Amino acid sequence: AVILGIESSCDETSAAICIDGEIKSNIIASQAIHANYGGVVPELASRAHQQHIIPTVDQAVQHAKIHKNDINAVAFTRGPGLLGSLLVGTSFAKSFALARQIPLMEVNHMQAHILAHFIEDPKPAFPFLCLTVSGGHTQIVLVKDYFEMELLGQTLDDAAGEAFDKTAKILNLPYPGGPLIDKYAKEGNANAFKLPEPQISDLNFSFSGLKTAILYMVQGEEKKNPNFLSERMADVCASVQSRIVSILLNKVKKAAKETGVKQVAIAGGVSANSGLRQALLDMGTRYGWEVFIPKFEYCTDNAAMIAIAGYQKYLKSDFVGQDVAPLARMHV
Ligand code: ATP
Ligand code: MG
Ligand code: FE
Repeated sequence: AVILGIESSCDETSAAICIDGEIKSNIIASQAIHANYGGVVPELASRAHQQHIIPTVDQAVQHAKIHKNDINAVAFTRGPGLLGSLLVGTSFAKSFALARQIPLMEVNHMQAHILAHFIEDPKPAFPFLCLTVSGGHTQIVLVKDYFEMELLGQTLDDAAGEAFDKTAKILNLPYPGGPLIDKYAKEGNANAFKLPEPQISDLNFSFSGLKTAILYMVQGEEKKNPNFLSERMADVCASVQSRIVSILLNKVKKAAKETGVKQVAIAGGVSANSGLRQALLDMGTRYGWEVFIPKFEYCTDNAAMIAIAGYQKYLKSDFVGQDVAPLARMHV
């Protein structure tokens, strides 16, 4: 079957073609405009999706060397995400399916981040643990089957991606700051600055205390030395990144111990972080886990993960009707 996947939950418009479970194209149109505002502006995002959606789908079709008539079904992100953004992808997918009289599959964006692990080998076997870390979410999920997922823990305040992005703002770095902190961290000393680890006994996370600690630390240092940030950027970034990674992985370690599950995956935009990837690999070696790390292009938002999730729904004839509406909030 030829499946068209559509993603429009935040600020990436993406379309992908999946043929019999294989991704043939994955086109991503990012929206640079938000960098001017230090974060995603919902109204601008939905307008940009409207401009990008048709050319992005056209490119995905061309790149896969198929014709639009060859498409057998459409999968789209129903939520969670920005409602205005979701509406563009949802409306496009519904119209496309209606006009061509083909089935429609709704996909949960957070499940899709996890199911990105089924795009290429090696694929995890069920059950496995997945740490999903993105711009809006931080979750530890026990993945029992493609669409049977149990939330073991989540953030009580900021998401891990937000912790990176808000820290970047404190450091006067542009949005999104995660990739830049990653870059500076490579040159820095992770032990240069002591940052707190929240004391939470269950599998939940908190990042707001860390954010405040970073703010006070930077303000204090800048009083002593106005050039603090320019002189110590790499050390600050390395210390922040190392603390975020240790907060995340200490909970993964706890979840693996409690569940006895030894297959551990990461997913979502922050899984592109090189410090997290390396630390998870090291931990896997130490604890005898089989570790799954997505390719960079499947970490941040993309339609390949939507198409692959849609393919699994297609196999079960799990379709939705034209009355389906997007949802800003959805659980895994
Ligand atoms: P959600 O999936 O929760 O709805 P989202 O779709 O906006 O949120 P993603 O696109 O999955 O999130 O991820 C974006 C986030 O990933 C941003 O916060 C960004 O800073 C972060 N990120 C991307 N690359 C890196 C990196 N190398 N290091 C740290 N963070 C990163
Ligand atoms: Mg994004
Ligand atoms: Fe996402």
